[in-house]
Amino acid sequence: MSLSLAETALVRPHGGALVNRIVGGADADALRARAASLPRITLDAREQADLELIATGAASPLEGFLGPADYASVLDTLRLADGTVWPLPFTLATDEQGLAAGSSAALHDASGRLWGVIEVENVFTRDPLEESRKVYGTEDAAHPGVAYLLGRPRTLVGGRVSVLPLPEDLPFAKFRLTPRELRAAIAERGWRKVAGFQTRNPIHRAHEHLTKLALEQSDGLVLHPLVGETKGDDVPASVRFAAYEELVSRYYPRERTLLAAFPAAMRYAGPREALFHALVRKNYGINQLIVGRDHAGVGKYYGPYDAQRIFESFSVEELGVQPLKFEPTFYCSACDALASPRTCPHGPATRLELSGTKVREILRQGGNLPRKFTRPEIAEILREHYSAGEARPKAERRAATGFIVWFTGLSGAGKSTLAQALSRELGDERNVEILDGDEVRTYLSKGLGFSKEDRDTNIRRIGYVARLLARNGTVAIGAAISPYAEIRDEVRKLAEQDGVPFVEVYAEASIESLTARDVKGLYKKAIAGEIAHFTGVSDPYEPPTAAEVVVKTDKEPVAESLGRILTALEERGLLEPEPLEAAS
Ligand SMILES: [Zn+2]
Repeated sequence: MSLSLAETALVRPHGGALVNRIVGGADADALRARAASLPRITLDAREQADLELIATGAASPLEGFLGPADYASVLDTLRLADGTVWPLPFTLATDEQGLAAGSSAALHDASGRLWGVIEVENVFTRDPLEESRKVYGTEDAAHPGVAYLLGRPRTLVGGRVSVLPLPEDLPFAKFRLTPRELRAAIAERGWRKVAGFQTRNPIHRAHEHLTKLALEQSDGLVLHPLVGETKGDDVPASVRFAAYEELVSRYYPRERTLLAAFPAAMRYAGPREALFHALVRKNYGINQLIVGRDHAGVGKYYGPYDAQRIFESFSVEELGVQPLKFEPTFYCSACDALASPRTCPHGPATRLELSGTKVREILRQGGNLPRKFTRPEIAEILREHYSAGEARPKAERRAATGFIVWFTGLSGAGKSTLAQALSRELGDERNVEILDGDEVRTYLSKGLGFSKEDRDTNIRRIGYVARLLARNGTVAIGAAISPYAEIRDEVRKLAEQDGVPFVEVYAEASIESLTARDVKGLYKKAIAGEIAHFTGVSDPYEPPTAAEVVVKTDKEPVAESLGRILTALEERGLLEPEPLEAAS
């Protein structure tokens, strides 16, 4: 095969040459005819994925499943017997008796479809616990890779494979670019520095940030999500892929980004798998792979930076691909930007970080992910996935979603009045609780004064109770002056980290109007210096700069303010909109 000039500029395949074990045309017909009379080996999902990688050259230099010498060498030295770096044992297990060196077997997938033939060179035995220890660093059956090995036959078959042209009905067929196809696409664009990104997870803002940092200093970016088998509680590839398509179409430069499916299965081998992911990317024409914290990890089996450090055990020449090592990134409310410990001087308190488990929990409950954590388009795709699996209809689950409406404003600005009006409006359909500043001071915060510290404590307590209520499906309405922006933002952040939507309502009214309508004469006394720590007069009030709703209670009637609050809640998807006609 001749290569274009642009293709010769691409990174060399691992081991030097791109393997091709796919047979076409008359050879494919002959292979089918031959396979009909051979003993059968049924591939599981992982072996089928490995076979596809071998066939297309993605697993170059492998031409088949490992024999005993390569197998032992990979386990002990992360190299094939000839010294080529190769960290994962590509093995074929079988219960089929009577296979011996020199025989052949037909390779079928679980649905019975013929994929190809293996020329059996060796039949040998695997010790699943030894492989577990060496590849995963544990014998714990709770590790998905260990559990897999314990469930497979111990007899392994090694040998070169010949594979039929890949079925056209494989998932993501349009995006399932072979190494040759992806290399051609990269060459066509003239990229030299090509960054790759792979994840088995849905893409959140932090991942997007990493890919864009990589793109800042590369010619092009290949988003290469893994679409082979993953463990049961990972988000399925179809959902992840839908999210990538949405994201790429809206937020990535078309001419500098390629989206392709990487058909490997996950092994959760942490550092070994990170190395594998990088090496095989060379075969696709990618010469830099983003390697984040605990890449390909699971549970706590690997150190957080093991997957980055493993690259240091090999020379630059023998790897031929560069890991782009990144710290975990997050949105920091103090930086007001995506940042990492390398760029952000602020502590964990201002970081918006959600674990994968937490994200699942929020979405399963129909909650909202903070938009600074996940783009709303992606959150919607994920929520649809999680809600599809639920037995209860969506509307009913929605109704059970709690949230917090937080009124802030000066004393007398109408917070309690609006809170009660809102409570009456929602009370027929929802559990509603009002956390009124004055009442809270009688019970929850008795003894607290009006220093900044005591006020902050009071607000934190209200925020805490509001979160507990909202998490259990109640609409929690906070109605306290809450004069300090920093503490309101803290309450918001803690709520959003719990998946509880937080809607801030600023009840705005001028001091003049409040003084004029103040029946108890408090403002007059405060202005006269008779009351200390009076917010707005002798104590500061920091108006919100980004409240979801601002109601001007000195200029508009209560009904109008209430209407705007309800509209905002509907727009956030927290309330069902009013039907246009009453249902009969
Ligand atoms: Zn920061």
